[in-house]
Amino acid sequence: MTQEKQTREFQAETKQLLEMMVHSIYTNREIFLRELISNASDAIDKVRFQSLTNPDLLEGNSDFEIYLLPDEKTNTLTISDNGMGMTYDEVVENIGTIAKSGTKAFLEKLKEAGSVGDTELIGQFGVGFYSAFMVAKSVTLITRAAGQASGVRWESTGDGTYSIEECEKDSRGTTIILHLNEEHHSSEHPAENFIERRTLSDLIKKYSDYIRYPIKMSFSEKEKPRDAEGKIIEDAEEIETTTVRTLNSMTPLWTRNKNEISREEYDNFYKGMFQDWEAPLEVIHSKVEGMVEYTSVLFLPAHAPFDFYQRESTSGIRLYCKNVFIMDNCQDLLPEHLRFVRGLVDSPDLSLNISRELLQQSSQLKKIGKNLEKSILKTLESMLEKDRAKYELFWKEYGKALKSGVYSDFSSREKLQALLLFPTSHSTENLASLDEYIARMPEGQKVIYYAAGKDRAAVERLPQMELLRDKGVEVLYLFDRVDEFAIDALREYKEKTFQSVSRGDLNLDDLGSPDAEKPATEEIAKENESLIKAIQEKLSGKVAEVRVSSRLKSSAVCLVSGDSGISLSMEQILAEMNQGMFKASRILELNPTHELFGTLKNLHETAPDSESFKDYCDLLYGQALLMEGLAPEDPVSFANLVAKLMAK
Ligand code: ADP
Ligand code: MG
Repeated sequence: MTQEKQTREFQAETKQLLEMMVHSIYTNREIFLRELISNASDAIDKVRFQSLTNPDLLEGNSDFEIYLLPDEKTNTLTISDNGMGMTYDEVVENIGTIAKSGTKAFLEKLKEAGSVGDTELIGQFGVGFYSAFMVAKSVTLITRAAGQASGVRWESTGDGTYSIEECEKDSRGTTIILHLNEEHHSSEHPAENFIERRTLSDLIKKYSDYIRYPIKMSFSEKEKPRDAEGKIIEDAEEIETTTVRTLNSMTPLWTRNKNEISREEYDNFYKGMFQDWEAPLEVIHSKVEGMVEYTSVLFLPAHAPFDFYQRESTSGIRLYCKNVFIMDNCQDLLPEHLRFVRGLVDSPDLSLNISRELLQQSSQLKKIGKNLEKSILKTLESMLEKDRAKYELFWKEYGKALKSGVYSDFSSREKLQALLLFPTSHSTENLASLDEYIARMPEGQKVIYYAAGKDRAAVERLPQMELLRDKGVEVLYLFDRVDEFAIDALREYKEKTFQSVSRGDLNLDDLGSPDAEKPATEEIAKENESLIKAIQEKLSGKVAEVRVSSRLKSSAVCLVSGDSGISLSMEQILAEMNQGMFKASRILELNPTHELFGTLKNLHETAPDSESFKDYCDLLYGQALLMEGLAPEDPVSFANLVAKLMAK
């Protein structure tokens, strides 16, 4: 059955993306060539790989190549490959819709940002095939999948619809004809003129030099003929000769000697292969021989993808075996928390002929993965030590991923702890590593203090912070959701345990001179045992315990978490994640030096069963909740109680 010509609508998201391309929000339009070349190269990789088990797919043609044909007469640029090609359904699937899950999120984000000129955003995102519409008013794609009898012709002006029909095509692969916009075929600026052979060959050098298949283009030259001795015949007429040249050097960068590769070459290689507009923050190129043999080039991208922390993990490591591409996005090679690393591994130990599933389980690959992890962590450690500014850039992008690693990956805890940075009470500008914190600890301080909250202001307002501040004790601030879980998982660092300011005994008397005049907290607690018990009874079911506090200075009360189980701030985070069943045990602490303590004492002595005493207890609890950033359980009755008191 042959398919008649049909006109179809693009999927809604595709339309949006196309519109953006047509109105060319991306100033760097030349990247369309890189995108199309990279698709052609991927398609050749595919047919080459599949032909290992099914040689018929090659149809006797294994001279893989990509061909560029600029044509001034028709104002077209044609890009052909003899790769895998696409079937009818694949064209509909791959070209008519956006399969990538990140795309929708990307479009949302772009709308939110409200600026269509946001090159940062779009640059982060491989715009792929659609980038053709940045330079072309219409695009024709003719393709035949390897092993199929007939081909497919697809055409669109980028206006929301495309046509598709079956057609004849002799050779396997894909041909894309760009009908260039006027500005891109008659521009005075050679750099914007994509009919110019010179421009095209420069662009290939810049972005696609490493592509392993020849990218060819014909050049015609006019020359006077030569005589039998090879001398130019001056008075003869010029004759035109056409030569086909390969534009790229085809040397995979990673096979070259490290010392001979400039940073710029690495950067261009990275940008071309991973479709990033920005140079990477760091490059790690290693050649390893011994138990396993491999070459790897790893990159730390300068920015995390905008949806990095929302989406499913994808690791960006490509696998090659002796320069032959095996697979993209190899999972399991690096732990989840290092999934931001991009790059490639080329190893002769990997077998081309086994399935991807088996390959991923291979012990060689596991060993390579372990080595890569080690070298990434080593690079980060030395960056932290030698180039703090750069490390902080890194941390800003990927710190959260490392912290998640501490929390979720038991085996990585120790390896990651020295790489962590936290804001602290020490300085509003600088972050501190745990080593830096420990180095500043005064004698007598036995634990590492931390406080969790929404932001610096929220944490510094906590009543529990006041006394610590007075004593000049440095406190780590935990603002990210994952922080407290990570600290909890670590338990200690260099034999110093972590101590929440909202939990347990703060051991403040160990720090500096305890006040000799002031009676110890235990004494006060003993003296006021019946008061404490009475308050506890009034608040039963709400708090697990009422205590005399040693951590408060000017506030009358505070709420702290029980010594075991989750904390109040963790409870809030879990509730936001719909895990509301996890509750922290609440302890109400009273400040014995606050005048309210005296008032309560009097009231309890004179009228322990009065309504006033009960109201006071409820109010105490309500305000303690408020200070923790939690709503009183019944805001209306809380407000009524306050009003009643004010009216007195
Ligand atoms: P990506 O390359 O990131 O998948 P693109 O928009 O560049 O996204 O391409 C979309 C899909 O279209 C590719 O994944 C591939 O399946 C198909 N495709 C594009 N160009 C070619 C080509 N020259 N040969 C075969 N398939 C292609
Ligand atoms: Mg692509």
